[in-house]
Amino acid sequence: MNYLSNAEKRTYGAIVIGSGMAGGWAAKELCEKGIKTLVLERGRKVTHNEDYPTTLMSPWEFPHRGRLTEEEIAANPIASKCYAFREDAKHFFVKDKEHPYVQDKPFDWIRGYQVGGKSLLWARQTQRWSQLDFDGPARDGFAVPWPITYNELAPWYSHVEKFAGISGNKDGLDSLPDGEFLPPHELTCVEKHFQKEVKRLYQDRHVIIGRCAHLTQPQDIHYQQGRAQCLGRNLCQRGCPYGGYFSANASTLPWAAKTGNMTLRPDSVVHSIIYDEKKQKAVGVRVVDAHTKEMVEYYAKVIFVTAAALNSNLILLNSTSHRFPNGLGNDSGLLGTHIAFHNYRASISAEYEGYLDYKTEGGRPNSGYIPRFRNLYKQETNFLRGYAAGMNAGRGSYSDREGLGESLKISLLNPKMNQMWYAGSHMMGETIPKQSNRVTLDQLKKDEYGMPILHVDVAYDDNDDKMVQDFIEQFTEMYTKAGFKNIRHRDTKQAPGLDIHEMGGVRMGADPKTSLLNKWNQMHHVKNVFVTDGASMTSTSTQNPSLTYMAFTARAVDYAVKEMKKGNL
Ligand SMILES: Cc1cc2nc3c(=O)[nH]c(=O)nc-3n(C[C@H](O)[C@H](O)[C@H](O)COP(=O)(O)OP(=O)(O)OC[C@H]3O[C@@H](n4cnc5c(N)ncnc54)[C@H](O)[C@@H]3O)c2cc1C
Ligand code: SF4
Repeated sequence: MNYLSNAEKRTYGAIVIGSGMAGGWAAKELCEKGIKTLVLERGRKVTHNEDYPTTLMSPWEFPHRGRLTEEEIAANPIASKCYAFREDAKHFFVKDKEHPYVQDKPFDWIRGYQVGGKSLLWARQTQRWSQLDFDGPARDGFAVPWPITYNELAPWYSHVEKFAGISGNKDGLDSLPDGEFLPPHELTCVEKHFQKEVKRLYQDRHVIIGRCAHLTQPQDIHYQQGRAQCLGRNLCQRGCPYGGYFSANASTLPWAAKTGNMTLRPDSVVHSIIYDEKKQKAVGVRVVDAHTKEMVEYYAKVIFVTAAALNSNLILLNSTSHRFPNGLGNDSGLLGTHIAFHNYRASISAEYEGYLDYKTEGGRPNSGYIPRFRNLYKQETNFLRGYAAGMNAGRGSYSDREGLGESLKISLLNPKMNQMWYAGSHMMGETIPKQSNRVTLDQLKKDEYGMPILHVDVAYDDNDDKMVQDFIEQFTEMYTKAGFKNIRHRDTKQAPGLDIHEMGGVRMGADPKTSLLNKWNQMHHVKNVFVTDGASMTSTSTQNPSLTYMAFTARAVDYAVKEMKKGNL
């Protein structure tokens, strides 16, 4: 009989840290390529459909009609700022007290610690980057040049889009390359009016329907995943029973499991990566069992770090050895620096008096989108880069709630249309990565798993303030010229982090002196470690980032497996 030693039993071809958006893709791609893969997830198990407790609940079944209580808001001053932290989805969010961190400057760190990570909660907006985005740092002289071009990533965008299912319209814009789209959602009539007016008034500005990860017309590959048509319920944050939107739980993780090559271990907090000085590579990870607090080691040839941007930084900073006293692969001293995010501070609201013979009804889990138009081909404003924006216009109804008994019943059953269309836009600005925006480890304080507490020292700068001002001016002008009334603007001054698009700290670049990862998301100095989530992003552009993390992950796995087969890893 062939007995395996305990260490052999804990040895895999690959380890993936984190089971969310990026980790799910790493798992799927590795398992499909025949690699025995261990997926380590710090949070609890969440199985598609089995663990969506609120998904089929009606509004009246929620004790607080979907709202949070005053106590919950007071106990969660950070998480409760997120619009999706509500009665129906709060169980998918990290509560403030559970996993403390230090805000050297105000930073709202929104997290989802469970199998599937934040892929259960996301708003599913998915746009490709263009070459204009990858050119940003080199053209405008910040960060380091990207070591990869759009054309190198484009086939991997296609690969991800076909499997995930992305709905969108082929708009033919330089700034926002088209993808492998399922049929688009429709703009409402007032959104179409704005689209037409913006096109007439500004040649370089475009209003389009958002591109989003919803199955508007499922294909064979989606049915094979057990997913079906999105019905527009707009309750996605609860987990969708039909798999109508893409999440790791509904799509990549079950697919990886089907290969028989995945071992998924929830409740496993990765503490650090083990570096072998003699072999000059990483050989495994230390894991703290979330319940027993016992530390166990697991081993693999290749390690994918996909714990979401700041946690990936934390794990690498905590992976110290004689060779790397300041964190794994950190010869440059830049690990944890150049953290960037998206500037979501400003918004505009407006009213439109026409189209009163039309209304909106039902759910559309999507909105309009206005791709970046500032500084696209050359520098033309007093700030660097630019912003994209969302756009929504709807006409709802209301019921008169006065009265009692029969008269109240009649009012409720006969809602009246609003006499106005309400419209609005919010900015999604690029921020400039800076060395001073960084995360570090507390030298003394540790959490219950023995991990140092993370310090977050990230702030806006003058460029961000100027961009907010410009968004307000430009969008006020656009809405005014398009005939909207009662236009109001708002700068929430919300802290960085609430955009939930934190990036950087382990950036890609050609030069090991100024970056941590090469063009394959592979650590310059530890060749068998790959970081493919937001931590790897050299700059942020304006697009919602997850599609790009997924494409980078699939591309990096392809490279890693080829290198493994050549015996290079
Ligand atoms: C309300 C909301 C709306 C959003 N809307 C959009 C959108 O429209 N478009 C878009 O592109 N993005 C959106 N996002 C952001 C999107 O969710 C993230 O970009 C994406 O989930 C990041 O993927 P990830 O794999 O890096 O992290 P996650 O999906 O968060 O997964 C990371 C996983 O790693 C686990 N983990 C962390 N530390 C450890 C450890 N030490 N050991 C083991 N496991 C660990 C976590 O528990 C988690 O499961 C939104 C997010 C939220 C919350
Ligand atoms: S909108 Fe679509 S994806 Fe979201 S919950 Fe409804 S059916 Fe599911």
